Amino acid sequence: MLAPEVQKLADALGQDEFVFYYQPKVSLINGRTSGAEALMRWNHPDGRMRLPKHFIPQAERSGYITEMGLAMFPRLLTDMQLINDLHPTLVTSFNLSAQDLLDSRMTNLICMALEHKVIEPKQLELELTEASLLEHDNPIVRANLERLTNCGVTLAMDDYGTGYSTIDTLSQWPFSRVKLDKGLIQRMVGSEKSATIVQASIRMAHQLGIEIVAEGIETAACYDFLLHAGCTHAQGFWLGRPMPLSDYLEFLTVDRRWSGLPIGLIHMATLDHIHWRQALVTEATLLAFGGHENCGEIHVCQAELDHTRCKLGHWYYGHGREFAGNPHYDRLEEPHQRLHEMGAEILAAARSGIDRVHLTERLRELTQQSTRVLELLQELESEAMISQIMPPQLESL
Ligand code: C2E
Ligand code: CA
Ligand code: CA
Repeated sequence: MLAPEVQKLADALGQDEFVFYYQPKVSLINGRTSGAEALMRWNHPDGRMRLPKHFIPQAERSGYITEMGLAMFPRLLTDMQLINDLHPTLVTSFNLSAQDLLDSRMTNLICMALEHKVIEPKQLELELTEASLLEHDNPIVRANLERLTNCGVTLAMDDYGTGYSTIDTLSQWPFSRVKLDKGLIQRMVGSEKSATIVQASIRMAHQLGIEIVAEGIETAACYDFLLHAGCTHAQGFWLGRPMPLSDYLEFLTVDRRWSGLPIGLIHMATLDHIHWRQALVTEATLLAFGGHENCGEIHVCQAELDHTRCKLGHWYYGHGREFAGNPHYDRLEEPHQRLHEMGAEILAAARSGIDRVHLTERLRELTQQSTRVLELLQELESEAMISQIMPPQLESL
């Protein structure tokens, strides 16, 4: 026997009154739509559309949220098949409550859809809030999350920046994305402190290899700030409101491109490069003059020697390709590669007992080469900033 309020939800579910609206997400790497978040709406028979705040909290409190999720997931799959027919590379996000993982039904349903290739793992992202995970942190939830990640779906931590959000939680669960909460994003406008927290969160996520989605973008200024801060994805009313499936499908037929180049990622690559050089110098010094054994326990002093696999290389051969054709970008490859060769030579010399004078000399050469790399990165950054504010077509007016 269900409580009357829950019975209303069960009746509405039986009458097919719940639908998904889709809110677009934009890639700040290339300015294109990268997918959407599915957000539930109640098409009430009184003709008024109910927002989640009028039914989700109650569904969560009563535990009925899992029945709703189980009933709505097949509906999501039907919608996604229409979306994927148009654009197979788009990612659709589904909100899960950690309660949904207290038994294996939801996990089985999702994994079965993937096994039967109804959708591809890359097309689905699951959003979970940190608060709900902390509330339901137990071995079954962890095992279900592990099964889901093993199936290849992306996990995003939702509402980061509210409540107890900690770097620690992020690193203990298999999240590959984090969504900065809209409250935090909107507070940036009047608060330097919030802006700094956003910048630092983006940097921290970048260092952990986690992608950042900012939600609640309501203005062009906010969008630009995030672009400059190195954020990779954005969602908000300024980019697109949640809309019915038919509108979303129509939205996708227009080849939209939001302005801006991923400038913030050049800055990230610059900082990553400075850290790489510092790590190499530390490693060479410890190898040459002892103390290296103390580093074994804490993995802070190993510089990646493959120039395609260090963080700068990762950017250069990945998202950085957006700048291909720019002379500063194109000229970066050769000195960067040489720098890594020099790094490997220095470590080899340090291992075979180089003396202080020679090591100092080799490290000076390394610094000079590193400065060349940094100059090119900074020139690329300045030019990208200027062309963002003053596009070449405006300059000629
Ligand atoms: P959420 O997961 O944090 O979803 C984002 C919410 O922010 C959405 O509210 C969206 O409409 C709103 N939003 C997006 N951009 C902006 C913006 O620029 N400005 C402002 N002011 N708001 C923005 P919505 O659709 O009312 O959903 C509220 C919450 O309900 C969601 O928060 C999510 O926690 C929950 N929810 C929605 N659909 C589902 C679902 O299918 N399952 C579960 N478990 N929860 C859901
Ligand atoms: Ca969400
Ligand atoms: Ca959120």
